[in-house]
Amino acid sequence: MLKSFQQYIDGTFEDATTTFDSVNPATGAVWAKMPAASAADVDRAVQAAHRALSEPAWAALTASARGKLLYRLADLVAENAQQLAELETADTGKIIRETRSQIGYVAEYYRYYAGVADKIQGAYLPVDKPDMEVFLRREPVGVVAGIVPWNSQLFLSAVKLGPALAAGCTIVLKASEDGPAPLLAFARLVHQAGFPAGVVNILTGFGADCGQALTTHPLVSRIAFTGGPETARHIVRNSAENLAATSLELGGKSPVLVFDDADLESVSNAVIAGIFAASGQSCVAGSRLLVQRGMRERLLQRLIEKARAIRIGDPQDVATEMGPLATRRQRDHIESVLKASLAAGAVLLTGGERAAGLGEGYYFQPTIVDCPDAQVPSVAQELFGPVLSVMTFDTEAQAVALANDTRYGLASGVFTRDLTRAHRLTRALRAGIVWVNTYRAVSPIVPFGGYGLSGLGREGGLDAVLEYTRTKSIWIRTSDEPIADPFVMR
Ligand code: NDP
Repeated sequence: MLKSFQQYIDGTFEDATTTFDSVNPATGAVWAKMPAASAADVDRAVQAAHRALSEPAWAALTASARGKLLYRLADLVAENAQQLAELETADTGKIIRETRSQIGYVAEYYRYYAGVADKIQGAYLPVDKPDMEVFLRREPVGVVAGIVPWNSQLFLSAVKLGPALAAGCTIVLKASEDGPAPLLAFARLVHQAGFPAGVVNILTGFGADCGQALTTHPLVSRIAFTGGPETARHIVRNSAENLAATSLELGGKSPVLVFDDADLESVSNAVIAGIFAASGQSCVAGSRLLVQRGMRERLLQRLIEKARAIRIGDPQDVATEMGPLATRRQRDHIESVLKASLAAGAVLLTGGERAAGLGEGYYFQPTIVDCPDAQVPSVAQELFGPVLSVMTFDTEAQAVALANDTRYGLASGVFTRDLTRAHRLTRALRAGIVWVNTYRAVSPIVPFGGYGLSGLGREGGLDAVLEYTRTKSIWIRTSDEPIADPFVMR
């Protein structure tokens, strides 16, 4: 019996006119029916969000009351973590260890923005006119269109919903057509938390109709997008219709720089975490390993041993370390880039094949390739899979040049015990995140976002909430004298 999910529009759970099949990537079999939102569904959701913006049930709430709703939501996410994690694992193939731990973070992000809600402040401006008082009010920017990709949908929507709701916005969130189950289940928690009808709407459907209708809608004032650069270009073109302010969290080709003085055990675990956690389907995947010559053989040997020992299998089993890729399309993409990379001179050190004996699931072995130059496709392109491309350097200057030789700039890692070098590199690397002697650490308190093709804007941290507000300048004339010459600007 297939499970079925409903979309959430204007405080009501409903079926869509059409549905599509969702496939369990661990088995390759259809396991659930998902609602495919039409352009008309999107329009109803945006209209509801627009109406809710000015209705007293939401508009008249104090900022502290909005914060309390977010605290309640955080508690509900934490209480339902196991169920949400199992759904996310079933629909995306991400291992249960990862989905459980990530949902713990999701609750923390909602808690953080719950606390921020009543700290969003305006200003009093010491204007250069003696008979004027000027204030700045910070107001919610309006209806937000949130769009998330298939990996980490709960997490990537928390970094949008949290600040948007803290700021008093309303939102229509589009889940990806791949793996939307956890977000549709999360909608029930939003409802239970007591958000007024229309404040949060959650639907899913295909990019071309649902995503297009949402991002071009005239009542949308802000688009918060996470996904790939190609879709981002569509979104930016779409926003020419409504001139919505747009933030883009895109992909990466993040370098991990390892110097001869680094701690071998620590580095090898961090590199493994950076590329093989979530089967490499992470925007911050450390997919380019840049290693100094003196460390190269020791580190590669260790990485090959560790990669071969990774337990691949059923993502619902707590002992599993690497699950399947989320879609067949994703596995085909990885295979084709890998083939082109080997043809371009890359040498396979381990992996490179579908994992055997695991039925029809989309499993792929942890793979390491040694690459002679940056023209090798696996060095240049984001694969979004478990493929580590290795390059070797001699000097710090070469390492920086290789690291920055990319149009992406999301994350980077530096492994060295030399403090002065670490500081130099944090300045020289062109990326939104530099992790030193660690990798893949996140926190609601710290902004997250990229340079170049990795995107625009930042999510997480205090400033992110301001991106969901706009200022209103209020001028109050305090003089009782009649206004003088009407033909000059005052
Ligand atoms: P896509 O860009 O293909 O899709 C992202 C979202 O956009 C999906 O919901 C998709 O819907 C939707 N979409 C597709 N076409 C349109 C359109 N014309 N208008 C509006 N929306 C549309 O990305 P993937 O799903 O393949 O995700 C992987 C990408 O996401 C990688 O590049 C990865 O690096 C990036 N990413 C970035 C992160 C960051 O924070 N920087 C974090 C995680 C991932 P549908 O699924 O229905 O096609």
